[in-house]
Amino acid sequence: MHVFGPVPSRRLGTSLGVDLVKHKICSLNCVYCECGATTDLTIDRKSFFPLSDIIFEIDSILVGKPYLDYITFSGSGEPTLSSDIGEVIRYIKKYYPQYKIALLTNATLLNDIALRKELLPVDLIIPSVDAGSEEVFKKINCPQVNLSLGELVNGLKAFADEFEGHVWIEVFIVPGINDDDSEIEKIKQICHLINPEKIQLNTLDRPAPHNPTITSANIESLMAMEKIFYPLKTEIIKSSNNNVLKQTNSKFTSHILLNIMDMICRRPSTTQDIASALGLRMVEVNKYLKQLKDKGILLFKDEARGRFYYIENKNSEDTR
Ligand code: SF4
Repeated sequence: MHVFGPVPSRRLGTSLGVDLVKHKICSLNCVYCECGATTDLTIDRKSFFPLSDIIFEIDSILVGKPYLDYITFSGSGEPTLSSDIGEVIRYIKKYYPQYKIALLTNATLLNDIALRKELLPVDLIIPSVDAGSEEVFKKINCPQVNLSLGELVNGLKAFADEFEGHVWIEVFIVPGINDDDSEIEKIKQICHLINPEKIQLNTLDRPAPHNPTITSANIESLMAMEKIFYPLKTEIIKSSNNNVLKQTNSKFTSHILLNIMDMICRRPSTTQDIASALGLRMVEVNKYLKQLKDKGILLFKDEARGRFYYIENKNSEDTR
């Protein structure tokens, strides 16, 4: 499946995800990545799936006119690695202009002029800037060998200057790596240059599957960082427990088991996350999780926010 949700996003409300990249292809291998370790670390853009399959899935969901705050390009890797992204954006804007489009990106490919042009029609871009120095960039984002923070910032600045939509910058905080005051001050200088509407301070909400030692930042340290970023506008991303779908699309309930598998293949999720995303009662979710457990494919990990379920090493095609 290339289209997933609607899911309750911590940042975007009710969001329909579009995933154009195979798991787990990315230009970075961030230590905190919720999708697992990058298996293909690349900066080469290409088409990963037939465009007609993606369009078919988009049509089959949007024809039902679901309530959505955003259609969001995100998923199993870096969305801009897909050479189809421009075409899919144009298609949605042409046939479903009532929906807003958001793009979550690591911003590493924005030096590509052609790509920047493809992305201009989106309504909101949320690029990640997790480091203010090359050293920390390597440590937290583990980039493909040809990438540098300097080039990332140049590309992002060029895009922000051309773009007429909204820009929010995400800064993902990992204690012990990018949370000291001097690094935050450097990230602030980059944010000044880009001039986003706001900066979202994010931290781990679910287990990082390939780095169990990574912990989340506490609220006090995030609040202290907000003071460093001042007067830039900041926002601390809250737990997804607070989000609920504003409207449930019954279309998804006919494929409940597949949808649950698809969701937890992409990101570890609690029973509450699954229930909220798919408009189910917790008791129903538990019933389906038991089926997966009985099949021997369900894994879990206990974290502060609860028990997170996942299925290991599945790629997008496996979830069909
Ligand atoms: S850029 Fe996103 S998908 Fe890629 S490794 Fe980092 S967090 Fe994961």
